[in-house]
Amino acid sequence: MPGTPAPRLRLEDLTKLYGTHRAVDAVTLDLEPDEFFCLLGPSGCGKSTLLRMIAGFEVPSSGHIRLGDENLTALPPHRRPVNMMFQSYALFPHMSVASNVGYGLKGIGRVAAAARVADLLRLVRLDGFGDRRPDTLSGGQRQRVALARALAREPKLLLLDEPLGALDRGLREETQGELRAVQRRLGTAFVVVTHDPEEAMMLADRIGVMEGGRLVQVGKPEVLYRRPASRFVAGLLGDVNFIPGRLGSEGSGGERPVRTPHGDVRGAAATQLAEGAPVLVAVRPEDLVLGADGLPVVVADATFLGDRVRRTLRLPDGSILRASGRPADADAPVGSWTHVGFAPEAAVILPA
Ligand code: ADP
Ligand code: MG
Repeated sequence: MPGTPAPRLRLEDLTKLYGTHRAVDAVTLDLEPDEFFCLLGPSGCGKSTLLRMIAGFEVPSSGHIRLGDENLTALPPHRRPVNMMFQSYALFPHMSVASNVGYGLKGIGRVAAAARVADLLRLVRLDGFGDRRPDTLSGGQRQRVALARALAREPKLLLLDEPLGALDRGLREETQGELRAVQRRLGTAFVVVTHDPEEAMMLADRIGVMEGGRLVQVGKPEVLYRRPASRFVAGLLGDVNFIPGRLGSEGSGGERPVRTPHGDVRGAAATQLAEGAPVLVAVRPEDLVLGADGLPVVVADATFLGDRVRRTLRLPDGSILRASGRPADADAPVGSWTHVGFAPEAAVILPA
């Protein structure tokens, strides 16, 4: 499929007000021309509104949308080199798969259109399905027809709002892989909205986390997971323990001590924080090491899950830590006292 390198999309201070409610609040973002970007956040945080502004279905209250040198902000949707795929897919039930995919290809001639449709069906692995009706397809196949149709006019940027939301779990994982593969093969920028952190991590080159209309952190999945900048981002991307304490004096190599009621621990400070500031030490369950130097805990519960054991640990003040380790990692029966530690680089110190 012909792939002319696309210019870069730039959102500048993009804001959308509904009355006095800031649905999208001063979002600034540069997208690489070939990147798979996921907008992640809870329901109502402004993801769809941001996507609709990029597509041209919503007029921004302020700010700009540029694609290369072109200012798209005031252009109607059909004049933008951008396409949007909706969650409902909105396929025409009375038309064949091929007619659905070729629907927007009027004006390029029958032969060229047919060749293009064949290319697109091959791209989404539906060759041979052109004569079928949408209602004879599985959910995942319908999703791929909608994807092919959205790509028919070679948008420079494809926007997808919860594209896998209608699929059940097994199909969803398979289709995630397909979506990723199609984006890789095309090299077109995709912006996908999702509220599912695992989906975002699986799909995205970079994730942008939204909270209350604001884009609060942008980065590669592993950076967001390992180095969240806030309690919100840490909790959004997976299970995490927060240990409260006060920040100790400056340590070496960016690591700092934190005084907790149960002992001192060390971590990496996410932001500039003053000595004595109330903080939370964020540690993932898989980074807690039973039996290592650290905080005293009693093993309150242990659940064997085959490849791992999930343990509930109780600190002396009754608060709970969740640990996830390999079954062979520690001999710590329920009811026994032990210590739990972690590598300083596995812990992030966040403002409380
Ligand atoms: P998300 O897609 O992240 O779930 P939305 O972008 O749909 O969130 O909505 C963000 C906020 O803006 C929500 O509080 C929603 O109720 C509000 N909102 C969205 N569309 C409209 C509209 N047309 N009129 C008024 N409020 C709206
Ligand atoms: Mg939405």
